[in-house]
Amino acid sequence: MEDIKKNLEAVREKIDEAAEACGRNGEDVLLVAVSKTRTPEEINIAIDAGVTDIGENKVQEIMDKYYSIKPVRWHMIGHLQTNKVKYIIDKVDMIHSVDSIKLAGEIDRRAKAVGRTMDILVQINPAQEESKFGVSVDQAGDLVREILENCENIRIRGLMSVAPIVENMRDVKPYFDAVKAKYDELACIEHPRLDFRYLSMGMSGDYPVAIEAGSNLVRVGSAIFGERDYAQFRKDQEAKKNGNA
Ligand SMILES: *Cc1c(COP(=O)(O)O)cnc(C)c1O
Repeated sequence: MEDIKKNLEAVREKIDEAAEACGRNGEDVLLVAVSKTRTPEEINIAIDAGVTDIGENKVQEIMDKYYSIKPVRWHMIGHLQTNKVKYIIDKVDMIHSVDSIKLAGEIDRRAKAVGRTMDILVQINPAQEESKFGVSVDQAGDLVREILENCENIRIRGLMSVAPIVENMRDVKPYFDAVKAKYDELACIEHPRLDFRYLSMGMSGDYPVAIEAGSNLVRVGSAIFGERDYAQFRKDQEAKKNGNA
């Protein structure tokens, strides 16, 4: 059993260090604990230890855990198919993974239907990797403006990015810098439905570098909960489906 509480303290300390090293305050960096594959019991331990925000990357996992978890803010951080927006529109507080006007349009429609405004981030794929979702740095402005023009029930709160996997953590810095520069540029747009507050960059392997580049929201999973065991996770899911759990 991983010591979630101890890991959390270590992560918080590293966040503080990284922030202070560049003249910022660790308290200004929001820690989103990424709880994919984790059980409600594990997630509740993290919440008891002070976690206020959790992130999931699959609609199904949000649905499965939603009613078993103590009050917390929910972040949808993974690729979202338009036909699944309806399942989470009343559950999550922010969607980090908006990368098309089609998806934004569906979020807008569903948000209106439940009488709310949805906070979103536009996802950028800074290295233009095939395996990752998101628009390029250059396309981000067009998508932001298209959403502002067409989606009255969406508020754009900033940008999100997943850096490429590299051998040396520092090699991601230029990608983070490029996203931060775009963030600063778009934050100047004056519009009632644009209120930049979050630059969501940094995971277990690179959050100190992301903070150095200006991130103020880090999405950290394995450094808190331990390495994910997908084989075991699938087995448990199967067992649950068959009624053996
Ligand atoms: C899984 C995931 C994370 C967290 O990854 P770790 O390496 O476990 O910290 C962050 N962001 C996204 C989009 C993820 O899917």
